[in-house]
Amino acid sequence: MSQDFLNHVGGEWVPSRSGRTFENRNPADTSDLIGRFPRSTAEDVEAAVQSARRGFEEWRPTPAPERGAILKRVGDILTERKEEIARAATREMGKVLLETRGDVQEGIDTAYYAATEGRRLFGHTVPSELRNKWAMTYRRPIGVCGIITPFNFPLAIPTWKIFPALACGNAVVFKPAEDVPHTGHLFVEVLLEAGVPGEVVQLVHGTGEEVGAPLVEHPHVPVVSFTGSTDTGRIIGETCGRMHKRLSLEMGGKNAQIVLPDADMELALDGVLWGAFGTTGQRCTATSRLLLHESIHDDFVQELVRRVRELRLGNGLESSTDVGPLINEAAREKVQGYMEVARGEGTVLCGGGPASGDGLEGGFFFQPTVVDGVRPGSRLATEEIFGPVLSVMTFGEFDEAIRINNEVRYGLSSAVYTSDVQVAFRAFQELDNGITYVNAPTIGAEAHLPFGGVKETGNGHREGGWEVYEFYSETKVCYLDYSGALQRAQIDNY
Ligand code: ADP
Repeated sequence: MSQDFLNHVGGEWVPSRSGRTFENRNPADTSDLIGRFPRSTAEDVEAAVQSARRGFEEWRPTPAPERGAILKRVGDILTERKEEIARAATREMGKVLLETRGDVQEGIDTAYYAATEGRRLFGHTVPSELRNKWAMTYRRPIGVCGIITPFNFPLAIPTWKIFPALACGNAVVFKPAEDVPHTGHLFVEVLLEAGVPGEVVQLVHGTGEEVGAPLVEHPHVPVVSFTGSTDTGRIIGETCGRMHKRLSLEMGGKNAQIVLPDADMELALDGVLWGAFGTTGQRCTATSRLLLHESIHDDFVQELVRRVRELRLGNGLESSTDVGPLINEAAREKVQGYMEVARGEGTVLCGGGPASGDGLEGGFFFQPTVVDGVRPGSRLATEEIFGPVLSVMTFGEFDEAIRINNEVRYGLSSAVYTSDVQVAFRAFQELDNGITYVNAPTIGAEAHLPFGGVKETGNGHREGGWEVYEFYSETKVCYLDYSGALQRAQIDNY
């Protein structure tokens, strides 16, 4: 059953002014057409931004607790529609239902956090250096936020951005990834149903070049939040730098799980299986490097490969499936391209190519792959593959593991398996990542903590938790001098 979908612009559901559409198909079975979506252009972006500007004027004076109350309703409706949205997300992007339910749950948790933030949005009241003078700050909304999101968390990532943007009093223009427009559509339906005014949220479907770029370049979009590849983030960063825009970037990763000889090996095996092959390896936090102490390497790898071979590929809607397809043909070609590199740089222990077999013919399936003997500094050790490919390396001393972990251009997450508290705290201090887990996999961020990475993973901002509210608001400083005389700051006191 397929359907024709629309943009949401100017408080209405409308087609693209271009009259064009694109198809959205199930990556587990491309004969399953989910729907046709507007293939929008800069003209649609222009209309959306003009509408959002009006929406902003309506929304900014709405008291923040009232904005929060609407976000609470958003959380309630997401809770009611959780299963429906999870199924739609699995159908259009492939990951297993267990994971898309988690994706929606993260959105629900983010909604409830944002709802209460409407009653905080703290400023500071600070003593003035002068007598009879008051000094304080408060947080102001900024304007229209351009929200550009990837396919891999089709519900959670938009909520990480849009909820704090709305709680702070901004309006948004949302461009979901072209591979997951249906989840984007359902999400905007929920926002409207909960009472977000029609012109406060715009949904514009289409490609990065035709919709994302004009949105980033629009002079009336002062805030841009992007999650996606480092290459696209660089292009967006250049534009925003030139135009003095506020920009949050969340990009690639090359995350390592480090296992020491004193680790709980069962736990470490469970961790790497989930971290490397969950979401078919298509997470920015995916475990793509396994650093094993040389004394445990052989036994660990043998058991790991045995378990990887048992992973069942299939349609994510079926409960027997462990690993779904890759998102599209281009992704599969990219991962396939790395297999030649893998054979040159290491030993492919299992997997190594597209998966075939019953029920897999119509989808972009790729065998879960483990490559051993990968050397630090090689392509397999440093480049983000974004697929079910795990590079195994060894180390002697923990210092060496730290060095290998740190010598890539990315810095999102890391995981260390050990029972030594000294190693655990050294990991917190010395691994160059935004997030370090001890005895837990590289994936698993919680909605109320800041999320983000160092080096080329990001540009210093964090999503989630309390920090993101600083990104979507501007500090205003207010002084009130009630002395009745001219007082000169920095001069009168000293
Ligand atoms: P991924 O590899 O995760 O798909 P991309 O960076 O290609 O990451 O895409 C992430 C999002 O960025 C998508 O919504 C995509 O349409 C959008 N995008 C791609 N290119 C551009 C661009 N030049 N400007 C703005 N957005 C873009």
